[in-house]
Amino acid sequence: MRSKIVAGNWKMNKNLEETEALLATLSAKLPDTQAEVMVAPAYVNLSAAVRCLEASKIEVIAQNMHFAESGAYTGEISADMLLNIDVNTVIIGHSERRAYFAETDGILAKKVQTALDHEIRVMFCFGEELEDRKANNHFNVVENQLRNALFSLEAASWSRIILAYEPVWAIGTGETASPEQAQEMHEFIRKTIAEAYDQTIANNVSILYGGSVKPGNAPEIFGKPDVDGGLIGGASLVADDFIAIIKAI
Ligand code: PEP
Repeated sequence: MRSKIVAGNWKMNKNLEETEALLATLSAKLPDTQAEVMVAPAYVNLSAAVRCLEASKIEVIAQNMHFAESGAYTGEISADMLLNIDVNTVIIGHSERRAYFAETDGILAKKVQTALDHEIRVMFCFGEELEDRKANNHFNVVENQLRNALFSLEAASWSRIILAYEPVWAIGTGETASPEQAQEMHEFIRKTIAEAYDQTIANNVSILYGGSVKPGNAPEIFGKPDVDGGLIGGASLVADDFIAIIKAI
């Protein structure tokens, strides 16, 4: 059985005090839910976030990590460093990392492998640009992103993979894929995994939707059978909005 998941990607927002305050509010208001709830604060606040959430069901996850074990990579963070502060899940492949930090499928494949070698769970993000969708090339783009970064993994590794389909045109833009568009793509992703591996792996992987999910549109998007939750950017920075989205799952 795959998990339902709601994750908040805080990106480069919230200083230490703001991080602690938001986490305290989220912990206090967290509804009773079967879903896994995760937040990804900025690196410098991860340790503090882990401490704040010690008694909470909310998991602290990282926004990124490097593929190397250690060494001369100024400004980067390793898998061991995350494990050392009790962070066991990492987002890899966010479209902002791809676009602004030139992270290619090849680099992402290495990051995924390093995370898995350390038994860190990977939330792998991918999705097409607006031009791809306009050219009706979105299925090809998504299939290639998955193939290039994930389809060399051994089957057993898939128990530590969470997928987040995030059409780039819907991230931070207020534009959302319609629930039907999200379902169509999620179904395609599951079919593609079933073909590359098998139906059990495809059925067991959680596929989140990300792209301007808000309290108002979450129930309909989460109501689709192949949508197992959401990766939330902007709305995860506002406690009441994030809580309302968690309630929608
Ligand atoms: C994201 O950055 O992963 C995201 C989905 O952002 P937003 O919800 O703000 O579109």
